[in-house]
Amino acid sequence: MENCIFCKIIKREIPSDFVFEDENIIAFNDINPQAPIHILLIPKKHFASLNDIPEEKKEVLSDLLLKARQIAKEKGIARTGYRLVLNTAKDSGQEVFHIHLHLLGGRRMSWPPG
Ligand code: AMP
Ligand code: ZN
Repeated sequence: MENCIFCKIIKREIPSDFVFEDENIIAFNDINPQAPIHILLIPKKHFASLNDIPEEKKEVLSDLLLKARQIAKEKGIARTGYRLVLNTAKDSGQEVFHIHLHLLGGRRMSWPPG
């Protein structure tokens, strides 16, 4: 997708702090971290948001979730806890319209979210 900042990260057109990559997913550190661990996981295929993932591509979602779980384990926060956030559309505050799963951990989170 042209002009998508996360597609540019995938293509190495802009730099990022990579955490993980396989054929379907990349993960990189958020540029403006909101917790000691704040990693974004994205599919390499461009979908604007959760609203845009068709039923027949539902494995994109399980891939993101299971990889987030694995990274949480590797980062040592699986047992202490972590939060996964999937901002979707305007009211959520979604700013980048390439679906991304936030993995946040390393501190106590509050609830409700703002
Ligand atoms: P959202 O509000 O859910 O759309 O979150 C977008 C996230 O992308 C924010 O947490 C930003 O800090 C993060 N972000 C934006 N540009 C970059 C970038 N170039 N590298 C890493 N993270 C970024
Ligand atoms: Zn994109």
